[in-house]
Amino acid sequence: MARKFCVGGNWKMNGDKASITELCKTLCGATLDENVEIVLGCPFVYINFARDLLPCKFNVAGQNCYKVPKGAFTGEVSPAMLKDVGAGWVILGHSERRHVFGEPDELIAEKAAHALAEGLKVIACIGEKLEEREAGKTEAVVASQMAAYAKTIKDWTNVVVAYEPVWAIGTGKTATPQQAQEVHAYLRKWLAENISKEVSDSLRIQYGGSVTAANCKELAAQPDIDGFLVGGASLKPEFIDIINAKK
Ligand code: PEP
Repeated sequence: MARKFCVGGNWKMNGDKASITELCKTLCGATLDENVEIVLGCPFVYINFARDLLPCKFNVAGQNCYKVPKGAFTGEVSPAMLKDVGAGWVILGHSERRHVFGEPDELIAEKAAHALAEGLKVIACIGEKLEEREAGKTEAVVASQMAAYAKTIKDWTNVVVAYEPVWAIGTGKTATPQQAQEVHAYLRKWLAENISKEVSDSLRIQYGGSVTAANCKELAAQPDIDGFLVGGASLKPEFIDIINAKK
């Protein structure tokens, strides 16, 4: 089954109205591969603003959400609220949520299930830390992160997994195409053995971690890499080259 290439930009806690206007102008004026699904992870407060600036071929995502629709959860945002301001997607389990804010696998999985139930599409992030890779634990770590998601996600149709080795995020150290492909192939095998062959064949797995215009083509050529989740470079015009990596 052909998997549509999917490129996400994670703006993180960056931007203001002026810079988001500029970025949206640049994206709107670019010639982009029509076979690529594009998802822009925008800070909550600018989702409405960005949505209004962009044509609908650009999907807008929140970068987090909570696990229930509403209530006494100061500072949190629900999937229903994200939808209400124009987001169709949410990024969950990003390494900064896991390691800066201490979110555990179980909470992330509950958030994912609730977001899906509310009709959002989910970019579900996973990835090992440097010490875990050096200890030969990469497969065990990503398997246990996937197993946590699998406890709550029953339908994977609206899920994209982002494999993002923590040591490659924002560091300028990209996984080599071979390193990334190895983990993606392992995830494909894990899905076949633990979910189903159909999900293994159809689920898109993005790579994330210091993707740039210079390294995206070789990564995109790997058979199990179905797109990217891009941080720093998604704020720059080179994001266009990353979207067009398969061209
Ligand atoms: C990310 O934030 O998901 C990411 C991969 O960041 P960067 O591309 O800057 O490494």
